[in-house]
Amino acid sequence: VAGLMTGKRGLVMGVANDHSIAWGIAKTLRAHGAELAFTYQGEAFGRRVRPLADQVGARLLIPCDVEDIASVDQVFETLKTEWGGIDFLVHAIGFSDKNELKGRYADTTRANFVRTMVISCFSFTEIAKRAAPLMNGGGSMVTLTYGGATRVMPNYNVMGVAKAALESSVRYLAADYGGDGIRVNAISAGPVRTLAGSGVADARLMFNYQKKNAPLRRTVSIEEVGGSALYLLSDLSAGVTGEVHFVDCGYNIVSMPRLDELKV
Ligand code: NAD
Repeated sequence: VAGLMTGKRGLVMGVANDHSIAWGIAKTLRAHGAELAFTYQGEAFGRRVRPLADQVGARLLIPCDVEDIASVDQVFETLKTEWGGIDFLVHAIGFSDKNELKGRYADTTRANFVRTMVISCFSFTEIAKRAAPLMNGGGSMVTLTYGGATRVMPNYNVMGVAKAALESSVRYLAADYGGDGIRVNAISAGPVRTLAGSGVADARLMFNYQKKNAPLRRTVSIEEVGGSALYLLSDLSAGVTGEVHFVDCGYNIVSMPRLDELKV
């Protein structure tokens, strides 16, 4: 039986190690037949990503730092030369100075605001613009966001502002590229213990709080995020674009802790 992704090729950006959300997505896509290419940010990450790429039979492994637009251009030139086109794209990239992922949002510096926005939000727009011309038969793009975009989470600060802009850019990109049969969506994942996740102050506390208070009484696995990405990147979601899809064990629907948690 052919997999949901059999015959589809795509690029996964944002694997740092085997805890990365992008890695959970990559494994799931591969299990359903996708052919994958990866990017990595610098040689130190490259050494970790290479064996993972091997594990899922990926031959294309390309360096890319989104702060260096020439390296982004190079990624899509390589894909064009090697594959001619792509069917899907995963953008799982975010960064902010961890010194500003604590305390008050109001204390965010201009330099870190701009850098956070460029890496965590505008990079998706720049990448979508380069990926779209390679998606000749239509395609699907997914980026990763967090509930701190729309509701205040302690310490998430400027990252929440960047994610709000990212979610808005998903809607504008969906409108821009819809006419070409290209869909653009975001997954709003619940907290996951990753390198990026640990940059937010008190990450462990927030992780445990959501474990207690999410309707499913736990947090998500990267494989579960992978399952939802499979849906959004495959033809199963052919009628879906411009959406922010929560994969958070239901945490976003809750407005206060359960009473049995409060009564001690
Ligand atoms: P991670 O640390 O495994 O991945 C973050 C990735 O961003 C890394 O691969 C890193 O190399 C890449 N990156 C950072 N700056 C870059 C740059 N300048 N150029 C190229 N790549 C760069 O952590 P993760 O949690 O898997 O993060 C993936 C995405 O998921 C991020 O957008 C993050 O905000 C989002 N997200 C994470 C959580 C969570 O709790 N971990 C929840 C919701 C959304």
